[in-house]
Amino acid sequence: MHPAIPHLIELQRVDRQTALLRSELESFPKRLREADTKRTGARAEIATAKDALAKINAERKKFEFEGQEWKDRARKYRDQSGAVKTNEAYRALQHEIANAEAEVAKAEDRQLEVMMKAEEAERRVKLAESRLKEAEQSLAAEKKTIEAQTDEIKKKLDAATGEREKIIAPVPEDLRDLYARIAKRHGGTAMALVRDDQCRACGLRVLPHIVQELRSETSEEVYRCESCGLILYTLEPIPYAKPADGSANAASPASTT
Ligand SMILES: [Zn+2]
Repeated sequence: MHPAIPHLIELQRVDRQTALLRSELESFPKRLREADTKRTGARAEIATAKDALAKINAERKKFEFEGQEWKDRARKYRDQSGAVKTNEAYRALQHEIANAEAEVAKAEDRQLEVMMKAEEAERRVKLAESRLKEAEQSLAAEKKTIEAQTDEIKKKLDAATGEREKIIAPVPEDLRDLYARIAKRHGGTAMALVRDDQCRACGLRVLPHIVQELRSETSEEVYRCESCGLILYTLEPIPYAKPADGSANAASPASTT
């Protein structure tokens, strides 16, 4: 195979790693938005719960006021009962007193009901508040994690950029262009491994004489899959990329991942 192929294999490895790092970086704003949405939801929940509680408290005050009014009326009738002259007037007053007392009892029952509702509403407010606290804590934690991960990924991306420059240095211009064109068309992939006489990218059978050529260390040709168009390579013999700094005895095996 062409002597630049091992460098292209390395290039593919670094480019894949770079793409993964970039997509991770791009996922961070979404993660933050999700955490923020939870916080907004918790705030709305608190507002709703507090509204409900305020309405219940207003109702309770209304019943308290009504109860007090009936109590006052009953007291007034009782005060008057000493001054009545006829049995009829006395009976009528007794009737008014009984009525007012029944209304007091009704208002007290309602107050009790409303107080129970208020307790429930208070519990809901507290629950919503604890949810908000949780949401705020997890948002803060997410922010911290993402900040740390962003720093780490940016460092890795810088390293990958440097590595890429070194790897691509010995690759001829026309092959760099070919690689870039194919990679652009195939979602970042330009290289296809040939194993068992098959292109591993698309499954097409590779002709035996091409496999032979790919395995030949003296061949200067670049072969592309007739079906998917990717640049073909084999791992037999294991391709060695010459180190970019040019030191002759420090060759390192190309990674194939
Ligand atoms: Zn193919």
